[in-house]
Amino acid sequence: MNVSHNLFGTLQEFDLGNGKRGKFYSLPALEKAGVGPISKLPVSIRLVLESVLRNCDGKKVHEANIKELANWKANETRTAEIPFVVARIVLQDFTGVPLLVDLAAMRSAVAKLGKNPKIIEPLVPVDLVVDHSVQVDFSGGADSMAKNLDLEFMRNRERYQFLKWGMQAFDTFKVVPPGIGIVHQVNLEFLAKGVLSSQDPKSKTPDPIYYPDTLVGTDSHTTMINGLGIVGWGVGGIEAEAGMLGQPVYFLTPDVVGVHMTGAIREGVTATDVALTVTQMLRKAKVVGKFVEFFGPGAAALPLVDRATIANMAPEYGATMGFFPIDAECANYLRATGRSEEAVKTYENYYQAQGLWGIPKKGEIQYSQELELDLGTVLPSVAGPKRPQDRIELPKLKHEFTTAFSKPVTENGFGMKAEELSRTVHVSAGGEIHPGGGSQKEGVARQSEREMVTEHPTPDPVHARARRLEGDVRNGSVLIAAITSCTNTSNPSVMLAAGLLAKKAVEKGLTVNSTVKASLAPGSRVVSDYLNKTGLQPFLDKLGFNLVGYGCTTCIGNSGPLHPAIEDAVVKNNLVAASVLSGNRNFEARVHQNIKANFLMSPPLVVAFALAGRVDIDLANDALGTGKDGKPVHLRDIWPSLKEVRDLMQTALQPEVFRRLYKDFAAQNPKWNEIPSSTGNVYEWDRKSTYIQEPPFFTSFALQPGSIAPITGARALAIFGDSVTTDHISPAGSIKKTSPAGKYLIENGVTAEDFNSYGSRRGNDRVMTRGTFANVRIKNLMVPGVEGGVTMYHGPLKGFSMYSKEGGNVSNSPSQHFVPAKNYQEPMSIYDAAIEYRENGIPLIVLAGQEYGTGSSRDWAAKGTNLLGVKAVVAQSFERIHRSNLVGMGVLPLQFKDGTTAQSLKLDGSETYDIVGLDANIKPQQDLTLKITRKGGKIENVSVRCRIDTPIEIDYYQHGGILPFVLRQLVAKV
Ligand code: SF4
Repeated sequence: MNVSHNLFGTLQEFDLGNGKRGKFYSLPALEKAGVGPISKLPVSIRLVLESVLRNCDGKKVHEANIKELANWKANETRTAEIPFVVARIVLQDFTGVPLLVDLAAMRSAVAKLGKNPKIIEPLVPVDLVVDHSVQVDFSGGADSMAKNLDLEFMRNRERYQFLKWGMQAFDTFKVVPPGIGIVHQVNLEFLAKGVLSSQDPKSKTPDPIYYPDTLVGTDSHTTMINGLGIVGWGVGGIEAEAGMLGQPVYFLTPDVVGVHMTGAIREGVTATDVALTVTQMLRKAKVVGKFVEFFGPGAAALPLVDRATIANMAPEYGATMGFFPIDAECANYLRATGRSEEAVKTYENYYQAQGLWGIPKKGEIQYSQELELDLGTVLPSVAGPKRPQDRIELPKLKHEFTTAFSKPVTENGFGMKAEELSRTVHVSAGGEIHPGGGSQKEGVARQSEREMVTEHPTPDPVHARARRLEGDVRNGSVLIAAITSCTNTSNPSVMLAAGLLAKKAVEKGLTVNSTVKASLAPGSRVVSDYLNKTGLQPFLDKLGFNLVGYGCTTCIGNSGPLHPAIEDAVVKNNLVAASVLSGNRNFEARVHQNIKANFLMSPPLVVAFALAGRVDIDLANDALGTGKDGKPVHLRDIWPSLKEVRDLMQTALQPEVFRRLYKDFAAQNPKWNEIPSSTGNVYEWDRKSTYIQEPPFFTSFALQPGSIAPITGARALAIFGDSVTTDHISPAGSIKKTSPAGKYLIENGVTAEDFNSYGSRRGNDRVMTRGTFANVRIKNLMVPGVEGGVTMYHGPLKGFSMYSKEGGNVSNSPSQHFVPAKNYQEPMSIYDAAIEYRENGIPLIVLAGQEYGTGSSRDWAAKGTNLLGVKAVVAQSFERIHRSNLVGMGVLPLQFKDGTTAQSLKLDGSETYDIVGLDANIKPQQDLTLKITRKGGKIENVSVRCRIDTPIEIDYYQHGGILPFVLRQLVAKV
C-alpha cells in the first residue's frame, strides 16, 4: 500500500525498460535533499528506509522515522523502533490457519453489522504454502509419495476445507496446496517478484508506484529470501496479522554485521559446508537481533542458490537476516526461474535507479562490525550431534562421536559408559512397517524459536506394508538418512551432487542397509524434474532415496515411525543411534524422539552416510563399503567434481519448467480439488468442530471504541517470577486429560488419543483459552510449591454456573464441576478462576518478574491472556515482541520501576488493584500508579511505567487491539 506524498522531492520516475516510465520513492533524491548519507548505509538498511519513506503518513510512520534511519550510525545505543510496512506476507499452514480464523471472524463481525463483509481483505498479498503437514510414513517405494499424500489429506481434511474456503473468500489470500513444495523454496522460485508495483489510490494520475519486494513470514527460515536481495524475516502471528492488515512491523534499529567474503569454494566442498561454517562463525560473533550483510568479491561470485542456502540458516546463527545485496546474479536467477523478461528488466532498472545495484566492496559501507571469510578455507563439514552451530570437520566426526558418547550430558555429550560404545543388536524381521495414520490428525507439537514441530501420529496397522529388514543396529548407526529441507533442496548444485554420488555408488555396487530409513523430500517439483531429466533419480531410488513428498518432512520432525523392530532395539538397549539430514536444526527429539545423535550435512553426504550406515567413520580414510569388484570404495572414489555438477546445472534452471510447474496448482492437484469447500464471503462456522471455531474477539464489537479508563478492583490471576516464557503462557505441546482443555475436548466427544496438541488446535479459541497458563511447569507464586496452571481464587464464589457466552452448544462452564467451597480461598485451575472472576465482573491482572514473555513469538500467549479477562500485566521487564503482542490484543503492559517487584512489595494475590491515571490523554511510556489495597484495607501506591510505547499503540489499546482497530477503520470507510 502506498501513500501519496512527495516528501523531500523523492517521488521520482525511472525507466521501466519497456518504453514507459514508472514512479518510485528515490533514495538518491533523499540523500540529495540532505536528509542523510544514504549511499553509505548498508543495503539492507536502505531497503527498509525506502519502506519508511514511502509509507510516511504522519500517523503510523513519521518524518522523524525517515530522518532517524537515514542517519543510521554503525555504532550507537539502539533505542529507536522502526515502523516497517512490508509489501507482502508468507505463511505456512501451521501458523496460517489461526490467522485465517481471525480474518474469517472479522468478516462475520462485519456481516453482523449489516455491512459488506468483502471490506475485510488482507491489505497486502498473503500467500500460504501448505508444507508442514506431510509425514514420512512410507519410504523406499515408488508409491511412497502418493501414499504419504493420501495420509496427509486424511489427517488434515478439516483444516484444508477451511483453507479452501479462505481461498475463494479473499481476493488477496492465496494458498499453495499440499504436494507442491516448501514455503521458502516456493517463495524463492515463484512467489518473490523482486519489485512490486501498486496503484496509488489517492493519486490523481493512474501511474503505479514501484517499490522493493519485502515481507515477513510466520516461519523462521523466511530469511532464505535474503539470498535474492529481498528484506524479510520470520515473525509471530500477531505481527503477521498486523502486517497483513497494513500495520507496520516494529523492530529496534539493528546493528549490521558485515561479512567480507573472499575466495571461492574448493573442490569437494558444498554450499552446505559454507552455511555450516558461517553458522558456527556468526554464533561465536553473537549476531542475535542483528542484520548480517554479506559483501566482497567472494559473495559477488557466489551463485544465487548458494546465497539462499547461507541466508536460510540465519535463525541458526541468530541473526534477524543473513542478507545478500542485489546484483546481476539476482536478475539471472529471476530469468532462469521463469520470471518474464519485462519484469526482470524493470527489476534491474529499479535497483539501478535506487543506487542499490551490485554487491558492495570493502570500504564502501561502514558496518557495525566486519568479519572475514575466505571461502577457500571452508572444509567439508557436518554439524551436531545436538546443535546446528557445532560444526565438525568431516574427518573428525568419528572421533567427535565417540568422545560425545561418554561425555557428560552437561557437556553436550550422551553420558554413556565408554565400554558400551560397541554394543550391537542384530535386527531381523520379514516385518511390517507400521506407518501412522488413520484418524484425522494434524500433528503439531512444540514450538522452538518460532518454528513448529510435528509429533508422530499413532501407528495404524491398517496401513502396514511389508519390508525386508536385516542388519545390525548399534551406537552410531544411521537409522534415518533424509535429503530434506528448503535449506538445501532449493540448491540444485547439492541436489545434483547427491544424485551423481548415488549414481557412482550404484555403479560401484554399493547398497544401503535396510536398517536405514532413507527419504527424499524436495522443496519443489522442479527438483524432481531435473533429477529425472538428468537420469539421476533412478540411482537415488536404488539406494532407497525415493521421493516421499514435497514438504518439510524430517526437517520439521515429520520423519515418521521407524520399523518397530528397530525402535525396539534402540529403546531397549538405550542405543545412541543417529540421523543424517540436510536440514537446519537438530535439537534433541526434533528429528525423531528415539534418535539421540542428529547430524546436519549436505545432500551428497547424506547419501554417503546412508551407504556407510554409521557416523563413527572417518570418511577421509575409511571405506564406505565394498564394490562389486571386491575392492573397498572410498568417498573420494564416488564424490562428484565441481565440473560434473556444473555441467548439469543448466538442466536444473530452465525457465519453461518453472513456468509449467508453477502454473495452475489446483489443476495439477486432484486430491486438493476433491476436498469440498464451503463457499461464500462469510464462513459458516461449524459449532461441532473442535479444530476451527469463531473466536470471540468481535462478539461485542461496537462501531465506536470505548474510552481508555482506569482499571479498578482488579484481582491477581497469577504472580510469576522471572523468565516466564511464551510456552509457559501458551503451551504448544500435549493436552492433559485432567486439564481444562482436556475436559473440554472430552465433553465434546474427542477421545484422549485424538487430543493432538495445543499447537494443532490454534484455530479453536475454546481450547487455547483453557490452555493459557496451563503449562505443567509454570509456577504461580500465589500457590507456592505447586506446578501447573493453578491459582488461588479470591473473589466471591457463586458456585457452579453454566457459561455459554462464547456461543453455540459448546459448554464453557468451569471445567471442574466443583461444589461451592466453604473457604473460597482454595486453589483452582487458572481457567476456572478466570471464568468465576468474569462471572462476577472482576477484572484481572498478572504480576511477573524479568523478561516476561521470553522465547518464541507466539500470538496465542497474548490472545489467551486477553480471553481470560486479564486487563494488565505488570512485570519487571518484557520480551520485546510479547509486549507489543499484548498491546496488539488490548492488554496493558506495565513495568515496575527501580527494582520494585511483586516480592519486594510482598504481594500474595489477596490484594485488590487499581490502575490510576489511565485515561484518554495517556502518552506513550507515561508513568501510572498501581494502587494496591491490602486485605486489611491498607493502601499503597506504586509508580509503574506504561509500556504502551508509541502513539499508534495507544490507538490499538483504545480500540481493544489491532484487529478491532483495523476493523473500525475499514467499516468507517463504507
Ligand atoms: S523445510 Fe525446514 S526450514 Fe524449510 S520451511 Fe520446512 S521446517 Fe522450515
